[in-house]
Amino acid sequence: MTDDARLDHYRRRRDWEQTPEPAPDDELRNLQAGGPLFVIQKHDASTLHYDFRLEVDGVLKSWAVPKGPSTDPEDKRLAVPTEDHPLSYATFEGVIPEGQYGAGAVVVWDRGTYRNLRAETEEGAPSMAACLDEGQVEVWLQGEKLRGGFALVRFREGEDEAWLLIKMKDAEADARRNPTSTEPESVVTQRTVEEVGEEDGW
Ligand code: MN
Repeated sequence: MTDDARLDHYRRRRDWEQTPEPAPDDELRNLQAGGPLFVIQKHDASTLHYDFRLEVDGVLKSWAVPKGPSTDPEDKRLAVPTEDHPLSYATFEGVIPEGQYGAGAVVVWDRGTYRNLRAETEEGAPSMAACLDEGQVEVWLQGEKLRGGFALVRFREGEDEAWLLIKMKDAEADARRNPTSTEPESVVTQRTVEEVGEEDGW
């Protein structure tokens, strides 16, 4: 029996709008069916940024990207590594309360699955863990807003470790698109981060 079937009774007895009990993580499981996850959360914290996250070995490896991703290969976007997040964070949208780390509203700006391009093209097929160690990650994103190859390149190590997020040159590159401006809404609820802040009591 699948997890879905096993949890059917639990699911049917509850109204998820009314109860604070956890819903079965169907959403997460369905997403993962297509491959490892990526998620980009727009986060209106003390400074607005985009949290870029890749599922690697059971956690979400994470970077804060102040300007967010670009579809123009000429735009190199600063990406500062942050702590690993649990996989379940991929479904989080809402308000982190005042006084808590990262206080502010969060929307799921884009989400989907990814492929490790280096594993497909290089001898030895480096794992994502090896690519992260080397500071050279190349992934194909299959999201709702972002598609195609993206590189994450570490250019500084140590205390001030820093990376660049760069659209690779392929058929999905587009210097005229500006999705962070033209498509600001959540891919889950179609709300903006401002609306989430208002509705969820920020
Ligand atoms: Mn953040």
